[in-house]
Amino acid sequence: MAQLLFKDVNKVYPNGYHAVHDFNMEIKHGEFICLVGDSGCGKSTTLRMIAGLEDITAGEFYIDGKLANQMSSRDRGIAMVFQSYALYPHLTVAENLGFGLTLEGIDADIIDERVAATAKILGLTDYLERFPRQLSGGQCQRVAVGRALIRKVSIFLMDEPLSNLDAKQRVTMRSEIKQIHRSVGATTIYVTHDQTEAMTMSDRIVVMRSGGYVQQIGTPYELYFYPKNLFVAGFIGEPPMNFIRGTVENCHFKTETLDLDISPIVKDAKALEGKKVVFAFRPESIGVYGAEKKGTAKEEGYVISSKVDLTELLGDTTNVYANVGNVNVILKVNPHHTPEMGAEFKFVIPHKAAYLFDAETEEVIESGIERH
Ligand code: ADP
Repeated sequence: MAQLLFKDVNKVYPNGYHAVHDFNMEIKHGEFICLVGDSGCGKSTTLRMIAGLEDITAGEFYIDGKLANQMSSRDRGIAMVFQSYALYPHLTVAENLGFGLTLEGIDADIIDERVAATAKILGLTDYLERFPRQLSGGQCQRVAVGRALIRKVSIFLMDEPLSNLDAKQRVTMRSEIKQIHRSVGATTIYVTHDQTEAMTMSDRIVVMRSGGYVQQIGTPYELYFYPKNLFVAGFIGEPPMNFIRGTVENCHFKTETLDLDISPIVKDAKALEGKKVVFAFRPESIGVYGAEKKGTAKEEGYVISSKVDLTELLGDTTNVYANVGNVNVILKVNPHHTPEMGAEFKFVIPHKAAYLFDAETEEVIESGIERH
């Protein structure tokens, strides 16, 4: 296990592109951290700086209290798993697993022992004599993870390791990697653009935005319930949070078609007079008006009328694509309450599930949950 510390770490590529801005974070021993964000936001660059594959342009990076900016990759105690499995096609699974140890000059007996132990953890024991072309994508990925695991390092770096797998295999490998992490305990930094992966696997998540700016660092719970800004609110959660733009007038949120009293959800509604704001709520936080659901009685929330454009029955829920005024929203409802397409649909947003953001700074003004 290892502890990592970043102090104002920046990366400017030789062509002048500033890929990571002022990255500050302390990662504790054994934590599982996901770096998440859209393509090009600087996740891999950050990972490569940790690995020592990219120079740090400015700032300080410490491993276990030791300044590591200039430390060679070999001395950092890391193992990396890439998106492309990078297996040697002409070597068997056993040889692929043991390859790194062979290079290090470790005795063949010890290598055999460690290959057997690693294969056992990953369920590869019956495949040790196969070649990569004789394996499924998920099995190849397991070998790639095994090659990192076998080195018994204190830091695992993973760059989109599951993106070549199909949806079902991804879910399986997700929980396998999590279990391996639990049993091995190595500090793990995992890069993904998939917020579900980040939410399900991480102790903490770092949300990054294009230009290499960290937006928020927090537990999955904190990011979901207390997003700091519109970007994080829109990034975390699937389907994404609904945003409705309007203005505060006389303590009410107003659009051409909506008029909602915001005093139940903000501490000082008067202070927001005239402000352009974004009223927001998650698709899954609503209740169906008139249907029995705890905490969604009329007086505890906003009753909104919408017109249904489309419904998608998923089995456990129905996604309802509806129109509120001129704004398209997505609502998740119990499939037994699926409305007719084209019909009027009344729903309730509990006060505690309503958010208000400043439309100009994009920062959160209030999460309704804070007052409940
Ligand atoms: P992510 O992993 O989030 O998709 P990257 O860290 O790979 O993003 O890249 C961040 C940004 O830096 C991108 O805009 C990318 O084009 C740019 N970039 C990456 N490598 C180089 C390089 N060697 N030279 C110049 N720009 C680069």
